Amino acid sequence: MDYKKISEKYIMNTYKRYPLTLVRGQGSYVYDEKGNEYLDFIAGIAVCSLGHAPALILEALKKQAEKLIHTSNLFYTVPQIELAEFLSTKFFGKEVWKLFYCNSGAEANEAAIKLVRKFHSDANKKRYEIITFFNSFHGRTYGALSATAQEKFHKGFEPMLEGFKYLPYNDVDVLRASITENTAAIMLETIQAEGGVNVANKDFLNAISEICKQNNILLVFDEVQTGLGRTGKLFSFQHYGIEPDIFTIAKGVAGGLPMGIMMAKRSVADAFVPGNHASTFGGTPLVCAVALEVLKKITDAEFLAEIEKKGNYLISRLTELKNELPIKNVRGKGLLIGVELDVKDASYIVTNAINQGLLINVTAGNVVRLVPPLTIDYNEIDEFIEKFKRSAK
Ligand code: PLP
Repeated sequence: MDYKKISEKYIMNTYKRYPLTLVRGQGSYVYDEKGNEYLDFIAGIAVCSLGHAPALILEALKKQAEKLIHTSNLFYTVPQIELAEFLSTKFFGKEVWKLFYCNSGAEANEAAIKLVRKFHSDANKKRYEIITFFNSFHGRTYGALSATAQEKFHKGFEPMLEGFKYLPYNDVDVLRASITENTAAIMLETIQAEGGVNVANKDFLNAISEICKQNNILLVFDEVQTGLGRTGKLFSFQHYGIEPDIFTIAKGVAGGLPMGIMMAKRSVADAFVPGNHASTFGGTPLVCAVALEVLKKITDAEFLAEIEKKGNYLISRLTELKNELPIKNVRGKGLLIGVELDVKDASYIVTNAINQGLLINVTAGNVVRLVPPLTIDYNEIDEFIEKFKRSAK
């Protein structure tokens, strides 16, 4: 069967796909329709954090599906409440955090943008402007796209939503000079994953935190890709010892089922009242039951510590390759790693890797982004290194 041909006939042309039809996954591997095996260092773009077909997800799915898959947000449902309590009370000391359930990273960021505007409109109508940073990525819906400071994604879709100001990342001076009485929030990723795995400096984040506190500006972290253990801490802002007012998560939260969450401190969250925001599928019993099991696993201290160790091992093995391969720089945290190559276009490596039985992804033209399942083991990392060497030569 020519899946490529049928796909191109019936599915809109929004993705540049690799010539591979995947039919099955197990652990860190996926398989195509011919039975070929691929070591998966994309993991659904940082989504399948516990690997493919993990028993705990299959069990949670079956157990909850037999009880209740969906009702609506017109009623209380138990998995929704259990998950909210787990997320809100386990990690933030005395502060009460509230959350809003939705279905994707973009949708979580839309909710965050709306909450910023609503919070300030209640108090001070002038504050509406959100500062974001060049090379950010916050999603493809209009609010999230307007927050995304990359021209290539805006092209053909202008005008963007009003009220966003774009600044250079890691530049404290420009940021200080750009704050006005209209500034409502500063929104950023601590690692710009899609933008090339650019890591925020500690000084930059400290300055942002201080500026926000001094000026009644909300600090919003987009943890869609960096959150939930990906960088070796549950949330990546924890590396820096600073706390946002709002943050968003999605991707790995339900182990591959679609889910987004926007979380906010109670003092901010309470700006939303019934009718302000909604999502039909937000927080279904099914997805919440699965997410709770995923979170129980990911929040385990030993599991998190292992991610950091495995990430450091992977970075050190990649750094050793600098003499053999055209590697300019290896950066990132935990299992979100960027390998910047001294070439203009690194897409040839992706094709070579497929032929070697390895799935990797390139972002920002010449950065290989590595986001394997968090359950990857050391043997699989060694296997990756051998396959990567052959692919990048
Ligand atoms: N924010 C960040 C940091 C992301 O990396 C992404 C997706 O890659 C998004 C938002 C958008 O998420 P989604 O594709 O689930 O809408």
